[in-house]
Amino acid sequence: PLALALTGVVRRYSQGQGAIEVLRGADLAISHGQSVALVAPSGSGKSTLLHIAGLLEQSDAGEVFIDGIPTARLGDGERTRIRRLSIGFIYQFHHLLPELSAVENVSMPQMIRGLSRKEADARAKDLLTYLGLGARLTHRPSELSGGEQQRVAIARALANAPRLLLADEPTGNLDPKTSDHVFGALTELVRATGVAALIATHNLELASRMDRRVTLREGKVVELA
Ligand code: ADP
Ligand code: ADP
Repeated sequence: PLALALTGVVRRYSQGQGAIEVLRGADLAISHGQSVALVAPSGSGKSTLLHIAGLLEQSDAGEVFIDGIPTARLGDGERTRIRRLSIGFIYQFHHLLPELSAVENVSMPQMIRGLSRKEADARAKDLLTYLGLGARLTHRPSELSGGEQQRVAIARALANAPRLLLADEPTGNLDPKTSDHVFGALTELVRATGVAALIATHNLELASRMDRRVTLREGKVVELA
């Protein structure tokens, strides 16, 4: 099955007296191991699309298949289970827990899934070392640079070996050079793990390094060259 398939996804929000239809029958298919950049202006519905693909938000119509499983009619419990099992998220701001070290931030989602601390720490250290943070394992987020914090967030998102990685402007708050570095590490890890990825970015240079580029036009997903 495809890692992610959206078919005919509709999402409207009420605003004042009226409503706006942000997604108007959006279709998108991403196979395993494929990386897709979502490049579209602010307000076009990128976050909405990512939230729906990540089962954080319900669509008003259409279907969302994760690894072939239709999710639109599932209850919250099942959706949360699939999200935890199959999907990793990276945000513009890292949302790391300030009291925990880099390793602990990455171990935590694995321990929630039932791994022992020992197993979880071992995988966390591997991932962080791969991302060039081998000398920062016991540092807390406040002791790390912005780029390092975001690399910890990348390790955390991939800690549970998700089938699908969703990222909303993952390097949006970093300076161009750091952004380039972090994006490089991210795309390398996406390749190495074979995870399917949908990454919203404003940066066309970064988008050009991914397998496909799509945009949103009038609530539909449109393939770019
Ligand atoms: P993007 O991520 O591309 O900037 P969003 O998905 O955040 O776009 O938003 C798309 C449109 O939907 C915007 O006009 C935004 O104001 C509107 N919108 C998003 N979330 C809500 C909400 N919870 N309630 C009302 N309108 C919303
Ligand atoms: P937790 O395991 O902390 O209870 P969930 O299972 O609800 O979290 O969510 C799994 C992932 O989705 C986590 O990475 C969490 O940060 C993220 N998440 C949950 N709710 C939202 C939301 N409303 N917007 C963005 N991300 C969310």
